[in-house]
Formats: sequence, C-alpha cells, structure tokens
Amino acid sequence: MASAAAGSSSSSSAYSNSPCAACKFLRRKCLPDCIFAPYFPPEEPQKFANVHKIFGASNVSKLLNEVLPHQREDAVNSLAYEAEARLKDPVYGCVGAISVLQRQVIRLQKELDATNAHLIRFAYTTSNNTSSSIITPTTDHLNHHQDYSSGGAYYGNYNGGNYGSWNGGMN
Ligand SMILES: [Zn+2]
Repeated sequence: MASAAAGSSSSSSAYSNSPCAACKFLRRKCLPDCIFAPYFPPEEPQKFANVHKIFGASNVSKLLNEVLPHQREDAVNSLAYEAEARLKDPVYGCVGAISVLQRQVIRLQKELDATNAHLIRFAYTTSNNTSSSIITPTTDHLNHHQDYSSGGAYYGNYNGGNYGSWNGGMN
C-alpha cells in the first residue's frame, strides 16, 4: 500500500534516532531525508494514523513532494484537519463544518439587515414626529441601507473554494 513512499533504499547509514510517527506506523526505517519526519513527530502518532487512513501514506508523500518546502507544514496541517473531520463525519468531512458556518453567516447577515432596516424605520419615524418641519429625503435612508447590505455580498464567493480539486488527490 505504501510501497511508493520513499525509504526502501538499501542505504546502511547508522541513523539511530527514534523514527517519526509515519515510519513507526509503517514499520520501516526512518532515514535522515524522511519526508514525513519534520511534520509527523513520534509524540503525535494519531496525526499520521488519521492522515494515512483517509489519504494513504503514498498519496501524502507524493503531495508533500509536489509542494514547496515552506508550504509543507501548512499542507500537513490541512490534511490532518481534513482527515480528523472526515473520521468524525464520514459523509461530509470538513465541508459539513464549513456549510454549518456558512448557513450561520447567512442567517446572521439577514438578521443584521433586518435590524438595520428597523433602525432606519425607527430613525425615520422619530425624526418625522419630533421635527416635521425638517425635510429629510427618504432616498437618503435607502442609500444608507444599501451600504449595509452590500457588505454581505462577498460571502457568496466563499462557496467557490478549492474543494473540488482537493478530492482529486484522494483517488
Ligand atoms: Zn520517518
């Protein structure tokens, strides 16, 4: 299963440090150039176990070789997060958490819009009652409301994410 991963060379270097979590899990020798070692320390065995169960060790090693060294830690953290979420929720994984948060954002945005509309109506009626001589054009209020509600527009872009391409790496 993990035969594609590096480390099967017959190098006989005396590397006696304790193996990283990945090599320990895969029962192989952890060589000095082990791609997993910097990101899967022996004291976090569950991190690799989760990632291996969801993505497979050879896919993870391929992925780490494809990204630039400075991006590898973020990539591993992302894989670990996604693997953990996928184990908790086998159907939706972390997308489940994202869609819950998106719905929350939409609900709160509607609530905010409604509250702002109330405020505008309230401000308008009180200004009409107290000083009817001062003429305030209603379009002014409408324009203010437009400003508030346009703030919510960028949430729509959130959907676009890279989740499609993510899954491509899994198979
Ligand atoms: Zn290793």
